[in-house]
Amino acid sequence: MRIELENNDKMARAAKRARASRLLVQVLAFRNYRVTNLKSGTVYVVTFSVEGARRFGSCECKANANNLLCLHIAAAAARHLVAAAEIAAAQTAAAPAPLMAREQDNSILIKPSAAAPAKYRGVEL
Ligand SMILES: [Zn+2]
Repeated sequence: MRIELENNDKMARAAKRARASRLLVQVLAFRNYRVTNLKSGTVYVVTFSVEGARRFGSCECKANANNLLCLHIAAAAARHLVAAAEIAAAQTAAAPAPLMAREQDNSILIKPSAAAPAKYRGVEL
C-alpha cells in the first residue's frame, strides 16, 4: 500500500517505534531498502516513489497493507535521507570538473553561480 510521506505526527510516531526496535536497514537500490527486524527475524522491502513534490513509501508488511505508516518505512526513510545527502554531496563535488571543460571550449557559457544546478542541490527523496 502506497502511503504519502509527510513530516507529521504519524511519521514522528513511526520513527519512534523504529528507534525502539532493532531494525537493520540495507540499501537494495536507490529508493529501495530491505528492513530486517533483528528481534523477530521478519524482513520487508520498502520502496519510495516521487510524484512532483509528493513523496510516497510502500512496505510489504501487514501494517502498511492496512494503510498505516509502519516503522519499516520510517526506518528506511531515515536511511534514505543519508543516501540522498551522499548523492547530493557527490554531485556537488563532481560538478566543477565538467564545467571547467565546457568553459574552456567556449561553446557553453555558464556563470560560476550555476556550478551546481538547483535541482542537484536539494535532497531528493
Ligand atoms: Zn512495514
